[in-house]
This record gives sequence, C-alpha cells and structure tokens, in this order.
Amino acid sequence: MELGKISFVPPSKIKEYLTYLEDGKIAGTKCKNCGTPHFPPRADCDNCMSDDMEWTVRDPKGEIVTYTTIHIGPTGFEDAVPYTICMVELEGGGRLLGWLDEAKEEDITVGQDVSINLKEFEGDRIIYAVRL
Ligand SMILES: [Zn+2]
Repeated sequence: MELGKISFVPPSKIKEYLTYLEDGKIAGTKCKNCGTPHFPPRADCDNCMSDDMEWTVRDPKGEIVTYTTIHIGPTGFEDAVPYTICMVELEGGGRLLGWLDEAKEEDITVGQDVSINLKEFEGDRIIYAVRL
C-alpha cells in the first residue's frame, strides 16, 4: 500500500507510517526527550534535536485551515479533476493535505471541524479523505 495518488517519498523511508495506515490509523511521532508531537512524523526533533522518538496514533479530527479546487491537474492528476484539497490542522498539532470527500467546495468554511478518513484509492493506494 502507498499513500496518495502519487508518492514522492520512497516507501522504504516511511514503512512504519504505512503500517499504521494499513491498520486504519494515522500516526505521528513524539519526542521522548521533550514531548514535542510531530505530524507529519519526524525522525529527529526540531525542538531539542533528539532522535529518541516514539510513534503515537493521532485522533483523526481537525479543522480546515484552507482549501482549493483543482481544475487543471498537475502531471499524474489530470484524470482526477475537478477535485478539492483541504489543509487540515490536526487535533494535537500538525497539518495534512486531504481530498474533500462526500461534499462540495461550497459546503466548506475555514475553521470548520472535520474528520480524516483513510480511503482506498485506485487499488493499492490510500488517501486522506476529509469529511465534514
Ligand atoms: Zn524534542
């Protein structure tokens, strides 16, 4: 399984994260030295530079930061247009980009509470589906 329509990161670098996704969970990392949570997950803490990290499963909820509808898709996404992507601030910190699911752009407002669902996409891929 891979994340997103196109992966820009080799699966070997995010293998553990993909394992959580396969279990239906969104995971970040947390610094065991200073307690700083990270999402997307990081191997090294940007607060204290420690590499002593642990995985933490995140609550799949958040708030819309911004959104846009793509009408002219970049390479690899031409067949998906139009689609709406949302930047979501996760509860507990961190942001992700997800695809608006089961709603239309005119239904969204900045600051709106949303849930993040993992949705199978084109066979062996998975996307973050943002639901209102
Ligand atoms: Zn730290």
